[in-house]
Amino acid sequence: MAVRPIRILGEPGDDVLRLPGQEVECIDGSLQQLIDDMIETMRDAPGVGLAAPQVGIPLRLIVIGVPELPAFALVNPEVVRKSGRRWLDEGCLSIPGYRGDLFRSVKVTVKGLDRQGRPVRIRAADDLLAQALEHEIDHTNGLLYVDLLSGPEHLHRSDRDDDEAEIEAPDERAPESAAAGVPRRRGRAPLIYVARSRRQAPNAGARTRTPRPR
Ligand SMILES: [Zn+2]
Repeated sequence: MAVRPIRILGEPGDDVLRLPGQEVECIDGSLQQLIDDMIETMRDAPGVGLAAPQVGIPLRLIVIGVPELPAFALVNPEVVRKSGRRWLDEGCLSIPGYRGDLFRSVKVTVKGLDRQGRPVRIRAADDLLAQALEHEIDHTNGLLYVDLLSGPEHLHRSDRDDDEAEIEAPDERAPESAAAGVPRRRGRAPLIYVARSRRQAPNAGARTRTPRPR
C-alpha cells in the first residue's frame, strides 16, 4: 500500500478532476492495489472519502471511510435514488483550506460493485455516509462541491474563527437547480481557483469575509 499524491484544484494535473470517470471493466490485481492505495491515502489525508480522479486515475471508483463503518470501495457507483435536502458544511481533499455550505440530499440510495465485483446497494439517510457518497460520486462525474454552491459567499476558509457569523441557507428560489439535479458544469471555469502560491481564492468569499494571514 502506498499513499498517492492528491490532485489539487488549481495546480498542474488538476484536469483529471474535471473528467467524467470511465467505467471499471476489469476488477483485477491492479484495481485491488489502487483501492488499497486510495484507502491509505484517504486515511493519511485524513478524509472520509476519496475518488480515483483525485489520485489522477479517471475511473468510476470511490472509497469511503466514515467512522461508523470499515473503509470500503465502490466500483462504478451510481446514485439511483435521492430525496430531501439539508444544508451542510463540506470540504474536499482536492480543495485544501476551504469549506463550503451547500445543500445535499437527506436520503441517498447508491448501487455499485464491491471490490470483489459483487453488486451492492447502500441506503444512507441524514448522515455523513449519505453526504460522502454524494460527494465522491460527484467526483466520478467530474463535479466538485464548489460547483454546487449557491454563490461565492458560501465558500469560506476552513480556518475561519468560530465567532464569525454562520451564513444562513439561501432562500428557496435560487438553489433549487443545484439541489434537485446534479448540474453539469464541465467545460466551464470552476467557481474558485485555488493556487498554492496564493492562499486565497481571488473572487471567492470576497464579499463576506476578509482572509486572515496564517
Ligand atoms: Zn472531494
